[in-house]
Amino acid sequence: MQNRDQYEIVVGLEIHAQLATESKIYAADANLYGNEPNTNVSVITLAHPGTMPKLNKKVMEYAIKMGLACQSNITRLNIFCRKNYFYPDSPKGFQLTQDKTPICVGGKIDINTPTRGEIGIRLNRIHIEEDAGKSIHQANEKDTLIDLNRAGVPLIEIVTEPDIRSSEEAAAVVTEVRKIVRFLGICDGNMEEGSLRCDANVSIMPRGSDRFGNKVELKNMNSIRNVKNAIDHEVDRQIQLVESGEKIISETRTYNPNTGESQGMRTKEELNDYRYFPEPDLSPVEVKEEWLEQIRKDMPVLPAELKVKYMEEYQLPEYDASFLSETRAISDFFNELCQLTTNYKAASNWMMGPVKSWLNEQGADMATFPLTATRMAELISLINDGKVNFTIASQQLFKAMIAEPETSAEKLAKKLKLTVQKDSGFLEEVVDEILKSNPDKVKAYHNGKKNLIGMFMGELMKETKGKADPKTAKETILKKLEQHK
Ligand code: ADP
Ligand code: MG
Repeated sequence: MQNRDQYEIVVGLEIHAQLATESKIYAADANLYGNEPNTNVSVITLAHPGTMPKLNKKVMEYAIKMGLACQSNITRLNIFCRKNYFYPDSPKGFQLTQDKTPICVGGKIDINTPTRGEIGIRLNRIHIEEDAGKSIHQANEKDTLIDLNRAGVPLIEIVTEPDIRSSEEAAAVVTEVRKIVRFLGICDGNMEEGSLRCDANVSIMPRGSDRFGNKVELKNMNSIRNVKNAIDHEVDRQIQLVESGEKIISETRTYNPNTGESQGMRTKEELNDYRYFPEPDLSPVEVKEEWLEQIRKDMPVLPAELKVKYMEEYQLPEYDASFLSETRAISDFFNELCQLTTNYKAASNWMMGPVKSWLNEQGADMATFPLTATRMAELISLINDGKVNFTIASQQLFKAMIAEPETSAEKLAKKLKLTVQKDSGFLEEVVDEILKSNPDKVKAYHNGKKNLIGMFMGELMKETKGKADPKTAKETILKKLEQHK
């Protein structure tokens, strides 16, 4: 768009993460995705008269973990409130949420941006609430079907300050949030299944201004790419409106990823008054110091910290460190591996190379990788000790080990005859053959084309299927060339 750089983009995100607890937030019903509709619904979920909510302690714990990971302040006295509105898939007629006392206040999400470097996007709050059920509109069906399995599934809502200045930064925030919730093991982060959902508030203002424009809220984008596309589209739409002399009205719009267009849902004037009031059936919950301490102690080392450790302690390049701290399963494995070898760069290369390729081929993830860290360490030390060549190890031995994970790397290498041949007697015969069948090359070598040594090495490796020890091989070739003058 022509005038795009005359405007500053302002975005604030509201990210909902479904918490991966076993049961729902106020009832013992199973919290499972994809079950037969309306099978995880007790009388509490159905809001039968006289039923009372009972808070799932794990929900508080998970929310606190997220807050600690984001350096938020943890609220000690948590009061739950009713947010009143009618929703066909919410039988209670209200959502049981937090209003004035969100469990986490402040904090930040750190992102790395191309234009502004490393920045912290401030959080306004993280609060706990419950999900609604799902309305299902099927083709050829004139009634709407309702599945209440999702009603009462625990959520945290992460609300950022309007600190984001581009769609790329917004995408980076969602990516980082997904990484953190997965690391903490509190949410599977699956946006397609709706475990992680994002609403984006978007406004524009003339570059250099400090007065924010009216914001438009974009609803429920189900992938990170859609978050970015929806914001880009909304910015274009707003610029066009402003340029043609119109005003931006505060409204809520839904983005349609199939058409790339958005549609207005409701304007600010139509906004509900939710009439929040404290839930009378749930007493305020206090977060005591010992509990907080316990949760703090149980926190895993977070990706940002791991990255620094890998770079500083293990002297790995940033690229390696980012990859190795990408998921908990990868970093857990790598951490274990680094207890068994001090060859950190080799360990990293194995993870980023053969291991990653194998996982990609299988469509598997690290959590189901068949080899133990011990086996990988054995493999690394076989190469380190010159017993197996890297090429042979990565192309043959590695796959053989995966097929037979109980056998040690060395045993398997011996069994499959993949170990390096250091025996120069055997090599001499092979070298003799090669030199005999290339008399012109030998002559050229002696006439000064010394780099033909590389070609002889290549032939030797081919003949020995890569099993010749490179050092012995080179020595043997040089020795034999002198004899073949
Ligand atoms: P509301 O009163 O409409 O709920 P809030 O101030 O609570 O608005 O903010 C809701 C979300 O909108 C937050 O993520 C916040 O960062 C974002 N936001 C607020 N004002 C703007 C703005 N002018 N432009 C973009 N985002 C904004
Ligand atoms: Mg608000």
